[in-house]
Amino acid sequence: MIELDVNQREQNIKAIIKLETRISKCTRCPALLRCTSKPATGKGDLVPEAVIVFECEGKRTNDIDWIVDVRNAIQKYLQVDAVYHTFMVRCQLKACPLADAIPCQVHNSLLDVHNICRVSNKSCTGIPIRPADDEVLNCLTYLIEELMIFKPEYVILFGRRVSDFVLKAYGMLDTIQDRLVYHHEGTTFLSVLDEQSYRPEIFAALAALVDTDS
Ligand code: SF4
Repeated sequence: MIELDVNQREQNIKAIIKLETRISKCTRCPALLRCTSKPATGKGDLVPEAVIVFECEGKRTNDIDWIVDVRNAIQKYLQVDAVYHTFMVRCQLKACPLADAIPCQVHNSLLDVHNICRVSNKSCTGIPIRPADDEVLNCLTYLIEELMIFKPEYVILFGRRVSDFVLKAYGMLDTIQDRLVYHHEGTTFLSVLDEQSYRPEIFAALAALVDTDS
């Protein structure tokens, strides 16, 4: 059993490194790349029982304490140990008057790897904006690949938009009815529809729904 786990971990590490290398070279969304120092990648246990999917990086997902709280709630209420989190869209669109003032299309990022703007020579002060639907569709394939590598027991979809796009990608088209639990080929998808009013106890309610469903 332990040997199986080690083999699985090694396979997953190799597959994720390959995927992340491709993501780091991706240029499908020029508008998003303008103010992205590097695309966001997943973090956590590489043989996860639960994978959390956020829409894109933001204030909350950059707060390590908040992420730890979400993970702890999932571990407690869904009774799993190994948790990983990732993003539906990897690059971050930002509103920035400095970048907008540049008259021509820039093909390289205006940020260096330390998030310093090459125009102002200071830390980026751009305001994150939600990606457009076509940018979500451009990036969704990476998430689907990531989930295929892990085949987790649970996928937690954070927010209505994430739920809509991911569930539809898996052919579950009745999200309009606000179901919160979906089963697909051995994975249970759980939706946290209102991410703004998130409380850890939502996972107690979702776990109860899973028990009722099974
Ligand atoms: S958001 Fe995704 S698809 Fe678009 S450029 Fe970044 S990695 Fe590529």
